[in-house]
Amino acid sequence: MTDDSRSDEPLAGMPRRPARSAVVIGGGLAGITAALALADAGIRVTLLEGRPRLGGLAFSFQRGELTVDNGQHVYLRCCTAYRWFLDRIEGTALAPLQDRLDVPVLDLDKPEGRRLGRLRRDPLPVPLHLGRSLATYPHLSLAERAKVGRAALALKGLDLADPTLDTQDFGSWLAAHGQSARAVEALWDLVGVATLNAVAGDASLGLAAMVFKTGLLSDPGAADIGWAHVPLGELHDRLARKALDSAGVRTEVRTRVTSISTDENGRWSVQVPGETLRADAVVLAVPQREAHDLLPAGALDNVDQLLGIGTAPILNVHVVYDRKVLGRPFFAALGTPIQWVFDRTAASGLREGQYLALSQSAAQDEIDAPVAVLRERYLPELERLLPATRGAEVKDFFVTRERTATFAPTPGVGRLRPGARTKAPGLYLAGAWTATGWPATMESAVRSGVSAADAALSALGRPRPSDLFEFEEAA
Ligand SMILES: Cc1cc2nc3c(=O)[nH]c(=O)nc-3n(C[C@H](O)[C@H](O)[C@H](O)COP(=O)(O)OP(=O)(O)OC[C@H]3O[C@@H](n4cnc5c(N)ncnc54)[C@H](O)[C@@H]3O)c2cc1C
Repeated sequence: MTDDSRSDEPLAGMPRRPARSAVVIGGGLAGITAALALADAGIRVTLLEGRPRLGGLAFSFQRGELTVDNGQHVYLRCCTAYRWFLDRIEGTALAPLQDRLDVPVLDLDKPEGRRLGRLRRDPLPVPLHLGRSLATYPHLSLAERAKVGRAALALKGLDLADPTLDTQDFGSWLAAHGQSARAVEALWDLVGVATLNAVAGDASLGLAAMVFKTGLLSDPGAADIGWAHVPLGELHDRLARKALDSAGVRTEVRTRVTSISTDENGRWSVQVPGETLRADAVVLAVPQREAHDLLPAGALDNVDQLLGIGTAPILNVHVVYDRKVLGRPFFAALGTPIQWVFDRTAASGLREGQYLALSQSAAQDEIDAPVAVLRERYLPELERLLPATRGAEVKDFFVTRERTATFAPTPGVGRLRPGARTKAPGLYLAGAWTATGWPATMESAVRSGVSAADAALSALGRPRPSDLFEFEEAA
């Protein structure tokens, strides 16, 4: 049994304060963030993670000479909390942002053959920054482009604090605002499926409005894209672990929490195989289903609401060619089942040939398809998109399946997402699925970790660290 009853070192002339301790359960981005924030405030922190590594849903593994990410991850310049996190773990230089939003979009559906369009921004104020790109976007007709502009302005006018937005679906709203099926496919879903993990018809208008307002209609640079140029594990496991160690956090991996309870003095007991940890505060930073199972009775008014938060899958298709077949770091595709393609060669450590990862969101129809079926489907599509693949040898083909990659951003999900505070004093929730206002992203995870730490620190009477991420006003 571990019972941390030491005292904080007193400042000269000050009375000795009892040390405060916290256990953070779950070593994903939410848990790592909460642990760092609490430790930075002088709390003695233990972080417990069931798996052999930190990073949760954003991790890497070894496959022969390749270091493979379980799924391609990107973030946007407007992800200010995740950018704070990268800074905090000294990883910013390893996951740089584009200087300026630039997304090549290849369309295979054109009678004249494949056609390249670009979503690019100009150095102009919002919304003019996207005006030229939209006006010349070849994948929409002139009339569709004009209607997209009008819908974007209507979206900008929505009040994100209006709870009725969450009761409507984005697809119906787009249709009511004159958006054709083609405009939805070639523009709104191109961005929305990748960020929300749902097509417009399955997505809450509130979450979609949040994404588009914050990413495309707030600051001109908000949608500039960043991604790790190293394996995700380098950031979310190795560097995170280093930062936690330096902050004095005791981190235990392969340590699955089986129950949590409180005693009559309000101290928490956290049960892991072979040990009971005691603490003043507990942050439960695990997925919603695990949180449901671990929460003590009465901690939420209706704990079963957590089971109402659905999940949505993401599939990644990995292809290693014997030669270079793609000359850009990534692109998005239309008129093919392929959604987004990323060049993973340098990040994976591959020395010869090229390694592409296809990121397939909202993959409900394919998540259980056998590898052979996916191979038959995707290799010919890559040949259509990238002529250089036609004479190339496929050295390796494999898939990674994340069946519960994100919470499903369905209409009505907003009222099911609890905040950081529970009814049990000293017990806090974190996780991308909690009420951050963001879809299930790294940004949401980090924000939730900060919120949980903030709530815990205020209850423990400790000031928040001055360099902790500050929440800004919503866009
Ligand atoms: C394939 C894929 C692609 C994605 N793409 C993007 C993207 O491009 N951009 C983006 O921003 N986001 C993306 N996401 C989403 C992002 O990865 C997640 O939202 C985020 O990582 C969630 O972090 P979290 O800490 O909330 O939860 P998790 O990462 O789920 O962490 C929870 C942790 O708790 C641990 N745990 C559970 N139960 C216990 C227990 N009883 N005891 C101890 N530990 C326990 C788990 O092992 C896990 O490590 C993607 C996700 C996937 C899967």
